[in-house]
Amino acid sequence: MVLVGLGGGGPAATAASGVAVVSHGPRSAPRVALTFDDGVDPANCRRILAMLVERGVPATFFPIAEAMRADPAFWKLVVAEGDPIGDHTLTHPQMPTLTRAQQVAEIEQARQLEEATSGAPVLRVFRPPYGAYSAATLSAAAQAGFSTVLLWDTSDRDTSQHGTVAEMLHAAEAATDGSVILMHCGPNATPYVLGPLLDSLAARGLEPVTIPTLLHLNWTTTATGPRPAAAAILDGLSPLPPQSSGGPLVGPSGIGTMTFPPFVPPGGAPSAPSSASAPPANASASPPPHGSASAPATATVSPSPPVSPSEGIAAVATPTGRGGTTAAPAPSPPAPTADDALLLSVGVGIVVLSLAIVVVGLARARRRPHGG
Ligand SMILES: [Zn+2]
Repeated sequence: MVLVGLGGGGPAATAASGVAVVSHGPRSAPRVALTFDDGVDPANCRRILAMLVERGVPATFFPIAEAMRADPAFWKLVVAEGDPIGDHTLTHPQMPTLTRAQQVAEIEQARQLEEATSGAPVLRVFRPPYGAYSAATLSAAAQAGFSTVLLWDTSDRDTSQHGTVAEMLHAAEAATDGSVILMHCGPNATPYVLGPLLDSLAARGLEPVTIPTLLHLNWTTTATGPRPAAAAILDGLSPLPPQSSGGPLVGPSGIGTMTFPPFVPPGGAPSAPSSASAPPANASASPPPHGSASAPATATVSPSPPVSPSEGIAAVATPTGRGGTTAAPAPSPPAPTADDALLLSVGVGIVVLSLAIVVVGLARARRRPHGG
């Protein structure tokens, strides 16, 4: 069974797991929490953090743990600023499609990789990708030591792929007392939305605070020394991403272009959970609704087909710093022989059909904003 996010509802705890599912904080104080998910574009992550630092605004980050490997230095800067980093899984699967054991592995291995990368404890708040969760997800979160599952009640819909900055700002301005605002560390639009949104919140007297502050959770700041300045965080980057004239401000919004060697948990055998090698069975199906803020979307990334060990190595990308990743060239396939002619024609038919399915799937995905 897939439980549905609470939209405008208050905190709710399930009796079975003892895990609180929360989509906003108390409505009694003029405070909001900015949250940034995924972290799939290191440059835009740095732009967002620099803007926050420049204005003295705290935020909470929920990166896909695998994506942190593209720019580990950035996540140490987040820790040095004192911003909490929560758990958003290792590989960003649709949690309800996984077994309970796989869900535990996604949460636990994400925490381990995040703590190894950032050097600080992870905030014990779990945000499920796309806001999708089941009873098994809550049970898995409890087993992994997470007693809060966080959704949101407001989103700027920055991964919608077709919205304008003005539309995204308007959506985010629905925030009110206690709101949890979902944004993303990835799309090119988000840094453009953030500045005007901070102006708007300030004009309305809504103070941005971290998730643990908003929800009164235990948290000790990780900022122990001098905080990095905005210029050091940007490290030569422009404060806003380049904008092609008139073009959409889309940018990376998924982990599909990033691949890494399998994560090996400390002291454990490599056990890449879930979607690392096999896409969810219903990756093209609509996920459950989760509230009024925005409709969650299917993954905007085409799941990679299973690969053989040798292909897996060939496909591994080498992080190249802030700019992204560069894939190593894959080996050339052997040339077909005359004996392969029939198989080849059948194969071509399958490929054409598969491409058509992918194109239709992408078109469907782009009609809906990505959530979580
Ligand atoms: Zn996400």
